[in-house]
Amino acid sequence: MLGGVDLGAWGGDGCGMIDPIALHRSLLTIDTHIDIPWPEGPQFVDDTRRRVDLPKMQKGHMVAGCFAAYVPQSPRTPEGHASAYARAIAMLDFINLMGAGKARVCRTVDAIEKAHRDGATVIVPCVENGHALAGQPERVVEFARRGARYMTLSHNGHNVLCDSSNPRPDLNDGEKLHGGLSALGREAILEMNRNGLLVDVAHVSKASMMQAAEASRTPVLSTHSCIKALCDNPRNLDDEQLDVLRDVGGMVNITAVSGFLKAGAKPDQVTVADYVDHLDYAVKRIGLDHVGISSDFDGGGGFSGWKDASECGAMTAELVKRGYDAKAIAALWGGNFMRILRLAEQAAS
Ligand SMILES: [Zn+2]
Repeated sequence: MLGGVDLGAWGGDGCGMIDPIALHRSLLTIDTHIDIPWPEGPQFVDDTRRRVDLPKMQKGHMVAGCFAAYVPQSPRTPEGHASAYARAIAMLDFINLMGAGKARVCRTVDAIEKAHRDGATVIVPCVENGHALAGQPERVVEFARRGARYMTLSHNGHNVLCDSSNPRPDLNDGEKLHGGLSALGREAILEMNRNGLLVDVAHVSKASMMQAAEASRTPVLSTHSCIKALCDNPRNLDDEQLDVLRDVGGMVNITAVSGFLKAGAKPDQVTVADYVDHLDYAVKRIGLDHVGISSDFDGGGGFSGWKDASECGAMTAELVKRGYDAKAIAALWGGNFMRILRLAEQAAS
């Protein structure tokens, strides 16, 4: 039982003697959303001021990270599209090389599991903002060729695929552009399904999210969002959205952005306990199988107690304290994400 909710097969064994440090070191931990400094910044393989670099991942036992080729929204013009696509390709190529032979880029669940057995650190490329497709869904193939395993449909600002949760008045956005997905957005989702990319609904409007959940042949997820009932922010998910993620077999990966966890809070005003409050809420609402962990490190995430990848053990310790058992913690830290990543592989043609 957890807070009055029967976790069924996930329930504790009653011994209550979990050593959080030993448990943490044994887990296949995956952070489902990390940004990279671009176009310049400290090297990934060095111990630097980045929140995520290879030494910090090793110290904090973060086995795998999804690293985003992030494309900011720009005008929906031929010029804006051309530069968005070029940036996404350049960033994916960079992400593929940033491990410099010391970390492994993995394209499949089997490869991630093998890397874990080998004691390697894993880089999983992904794309943030469907603007990167430049209005040409067939270009998903170029992202897949570079190992991308999910694409976030939008960022802040509407694009030609869908409406964003955060319109950009500076780009002449009204509240809505398409009322959810455009026809092109639906095409892009099917192309992603065919190429094994998961559909990430972080950043999109509620209408876009609900329509994407229905349009996709594989479960959609939010790789980095929090809970609206606990913090009313446009980037967070309400109960109806959470229920839909459960119903389609998808998931929400709670993220470490202080302003999404506590309204108006600065990073030093938020703790791991605040984060796990959001995670607990999602588990109680939609079930343990549909919840995971993300940081948004180097993209705005991080707070006192989990300020960088070296401190991942603090998350496991808090989960143990809240009564989650080893099996549950393994599911939250990566097992659930791996399950839907595998579904995307199986659905790809
Ligand atoms: Zn983001």
